Formats: sequence, structure tokens, C-alpha cells
Amino acid sequence: MNKIKGVKKISGEKDDIEKLNQIINFCRDNYNIAHDKTYSLAKSGIEICEKLTLSAEKNILETYLAFFLWHNNEPQKSLSIIYSISEKLLANKNYLEFSLGVIITSLIEWAKGEVELAFNTINQAFEELKNQENTKVAIIRLNWTLGVFYFDLDEIEDSLRHYQLSKNSLDHETDFSVVAYINIGLATVYKKKLELEKAEKLFEEILVYSQTNNIWMVEARSYHELGMLEQLKENFDKAYRLFSKSYEIRLANNARPAMVTSLISMAQIDIVKKNFSNAEIKLLQALEISKEKNLKPKTSILMLQLSGIKEEQFKHKESLYYLKKHYELEKELKNVIKNNKNAYLQLNYKVQKTAKELEREKELSLLKTSFVSTASHQFRTPLAVIQSNTELLLMLLSKIDNNELERVKKVTGRITGQIAKMTDLMEEVLVLGKLTSGNVHYEAKELNLLEFCNVLIQQFNAIQEDGRILEFKIIGETYNVKLDSKLLGHTLTNLISNAFKYSVGKENPELTIHFKAKEVVLSVKDYGIGISKNEQLHLFEPFYRADNATDIKGTGLGLSIAKEYVEINKGNILVKSILGEGSCFEIIFKR
Ligand code: ADP
Repeated sequence: MNKIKGVKKISGEKDDIEKLNQIINFCRDNYNIAHDKTYSLAKSGIEICEKLTLSAEKNILETYLAFFLWHNNEPQKSLSIIYSISEKLLANKNYLEFSLGVIITSLIEWAKGEVELAFNTINQAFEELKNQENTKVAIIRLNWTLGVFYFDLDEIEDSLRHYQLSKNSLDHETDFSVVAYINIGLATVYKKKLELEKAEKLFEEILVYSQTNNIWMVEARSYHELGMLEQLKENFDKAYRLFSKSYEIRLANNARPAMVTSLISMAQIDIVKKNFSNAEIKLLQALEISKEKNLKPKTSILMLQLSGIKEEQFKHKESLYYLKKHYELEKELKNVIKNNKNAYLQLNYKVQKTAKELEREKELSLLKTSFVSTASHQFRTPLAVIQSNTELLLMLLSKIDNNELERVKKVTGRITGQIAKMTDLMEEVLVLGKLTSGNVHYEAKELNLLEFCNVLIQQFNAIQEDGRILEFKIIGETYNVKLDSKLLGHTLTNLISNAFKYSVGKENPELTIHFKAKEVVLSVKDYGIGISKNEQLHLFEPFYRADNATDIKGTGLGLSIAKEYVEINKGNILVKSILGEGSCFEIIFKR
């Protein structure tokens, strides 16, 4: 590196510990921008640690060696350092370095196309940091990495979310390059979402920030990005000026691969302006660097562009030569891209699925509830209108002769009957909709079953038109049970009204509470029409009605609701019945 801007100086004659602290601080703030210097300082810091046998500090500095090695294309060496120190960094609560190790590991996995592994590595780190204090330094960086991963996968909203999470934790961050890269991530997301004004504003802010803090890489990147935005707006002169600024900064710092990017962009503007020979000079220079650094995708693009220029210059033979080279490279690259694609698919199925599906399920069930409830309300209004008009009709017809009136009454009676049926149905569909989407309120409290059932029984006895009553029996020593009384009330009401309804003209139905040692059993028994064995299997399914019940009013929903309610109350429901003799429904709750 020729020139390092923005790097804090280290003064010479201090004692070892102070020097070590300075080295650590330097590495922490500059590893991203001053690679060589970080490397040499980390080395000398490690020597001090060895002299003074300071192992925690040594591990910190070893992280920066690993970073340097990774950055210099030596992933294996980098990983072997990280593996040996990672647990110790965590134990010593050196979360910044711990997270750097995690990030390097996951980036290496990512580069190999091991998408799932890369995500797991990061997620596992989040787990390990859970419930620890002062982990922000790590959280910032881990979220940033996830932002990068998701962006690569074209999952833009997820990317945005993680960059934002990262940015939200930034308060005391002293590594300016990290702050800048998070903002670059965000701005790039905006660009991808075609929120160009937002992107431009943020890149401008990043530019100022990078100039204030002397982060040349970010400064050059900002100029380049702003140039691309101008290019989109077809402000070609302005775009060209911005590209050349980025090029100059990169040239001054000998950042050769990045120079290629600037040169290609500048050449593109030359081509738009039909300055083919200027474009050619830039592209040839870029080609030289790309070959030197083995940047294959860039080389391929350059070949194609050079071919285009030669074509424009009517040099067809040369044009063909470049085109052939371009295709050869593409063929080679396609394999690489295909491998990445497989990894991407893998992710789609394995990693994203779980979280997203859960989210989606929740959304769907909300949608279902709101659909069911809107639909039910929508039905209720026309039903009410039909009902009131039927009454009106009766009033108007009261003047006609008695014979006719009786016939009309029969008709309106049928209409009213059907309306009542439909209203009940809607009511129950609404309850069931809430149930299946898991939106039922549940609050268990100590309940005195005896008192509770007595109130219920009185209500039932008061409304029976045939003079029957509900018999009540208690077996065993009573005790309180923890239950949601509302849900239990609904359940029993349904079973008791069925017992009356399906045993008209027979003996009184019975409610029994059996307090057993480990469980309490509430049973509702009647001596009515009963249910055949086969049909008992389906009773708790929505809308199911037995053959012998078709002449008796009902919707077939009551028992499915009752079953759901019993289960929310952590109980079981079952039926015992003999066709023609009667039925007994039992609800069992553990004590
Ligand atoms: P509904 O009574 O509105 O039809 P339920 O869900 O409460 O709906 O019951 C479903 C079916 O179970 C009824 O249609 C009937 O065939 C049968 N059933 C329920 N309770 C009894 C009972 N006590 N005696 C006989 N059949 C019953």
C-alpha cells in the first residue's frame, strides 16, 4: 500500500503494555483499510504478548493475522488460526474478534457455494452471543454479513432488514469503514429497489463521510456509484467526471482490480459518445490488469466490449477474435455459475423455508380469520334485510282473507326458519374460523365445577318447553380444577342442548361430574336417538350430521367447536352411544 490515509499513528517510546494496547486499537479500527500495516503491527504485538505471556491479547491479534491471510487469498491458513482461537475469544468476551472469525469462516463457505453452511455459521454465532452483554460490535458485523448474503441471493427485503439492524446498533462504533460499508450496503439495496433518489442521497452522504474520515476505498466507491446513477439518468458528462474521480483515487492507491471497474465504466461513456479509440485505450488497459489478476468475469466482459469496438471500426477479423475469446471464457464461467445456482436452490429449500413458512402460515391464518369474519358479517346484513321484509310482507298481507293469509304465513314461516338457520350457521363458522387460525383467548383459573354447573343447569331448565329438566349427579370428593370457564361453558352448553334436542319425548338427560383421583370426567347422557358406530367416527368433523338427525335442526358444527374448546382446555372428549338407545358424551380433564 503506497499511502495510508486515516490511520491513527502509533507513538514510539511507551512501555510494552501501552504499546500493545495501541496496537490492538489500531488493528480494531484499521484492519479493513490498512492491511499491510495491520499485519506487521499484529505480528510485533504478538511478540510482546509472548514475552509477557498474555494469551487473551495474543488471540485478539491472531484474529487480525487471520484476516490478513484471508484477504490475501490464503483461506486455509486463515481458518486454521480461527479454529484454534475462536472459543477462547468467546470465553474472554472479545466479541469483536470472535465475530470477525465467524464472518471470515462464513465468507469462505459462501465463496465455495456452501450457502447453508455460511448461514448456519452466522446463526450459530447469534445463538452464542444471546444473553451476553456488550455484544453490539459483533451484532453489527454479523447483521452486515447477512445483508451481503441476502443481497447476493437477490433477497432484497431480507438484505435491507439486516443492513438496517446493523445500522441501528452503530452508536459507539469507532471503525469508520464498517459504518461506511453498512451504508453502502443500504444504498445498494435502494438502488436495486429502484429507489434511486434515496440511493443517491445516501451515496452522497457516504462520500462526505469517507472524505471526512479519509477512507479512500469508500470514497472511490461512492464516486463510482454516483457515476452509475448519473449514467442511468443519461447525464453522460457528469457520469464520466464521477467515474474518473473514482479512477484517480484507485490509481493513487494502486487498487488495481478496482481500477478495472472504473475503466470499464469510463469506456462505456466513450462508446455512447462514439469515441471508440478512447474507449479502446481504456479497455486494453483494463484487460491487462484483469489478466494479471486473473479476473475472469471481467476479462470476458472486456473481450466482448473490445469486439464491439472493433466491429464499429470495421475491423471484423479482430472483432471475431475477441468474440471467440469471450465465448470461451463464458463457457468456462457458466460452470461456476451453475454450481452457485445449485447452492442457491439448496438454500431456498432448506434455510429460508423454515422461517418464511412460519411467517406465511401466520399470515394465512390471519387472512383466513379476517375472511371468515368479514364473510359472516357480509351474510348477516342481507339476512337481516330479508327478515325485516318478511315481517313487512306479513303486515301488508294482514288485510287479505284468512285462507290466503294462512298460506302466506306458511311461506314467510319457511323464509324466517331458513334465515334463523343461516344466522346460526354463520355464527358457528365464525367461531370455527377463529379456532382453526389459533386466535382464541384462553385463560385458565381455579374453577368450582359444582357451582359452575349449577348455574348452567338452571339456565337450561328454565327454557325447556316440554317440562323436562337436566338431572345432576356428583360422584367422588369435589375439588377445584384449573380451566377456562368460558370455553368449558360453551362446550357443555352444546352437549346439553344436543342431549335435549336429540331425545325429545324421552327421559330427562343427565349431567354427571365424576371427581376421580387423577382426573375429572364430565358426562352428558341422554336416552334419545343415539348414533351408529360408523357415524360416531365422524361426529367431530365440521358439518357432519348423522343420518337420523336430518329432520332435527342443526348445522353440524357444534361438536367440532366443542372438541376444539376442550382441547384448548387441555382435555379430551369422547362419545359412547347405541343407536336408538341414547348417547353419552364425556369430557375428561387431568387434575
Ligand atoms: P348439530 O347438532 O348442529 O347438527 P353437532 O356438531 O352438535 O351439530 O352434532 C353433529 C351431529 O352429531 C348431529 O347432527 C347429530 O347427528 C349427532 N349428535 C350430536 N349429539 C347427539 C346426541 N346427543 N344424540 C344423537 N346424535 C347426536
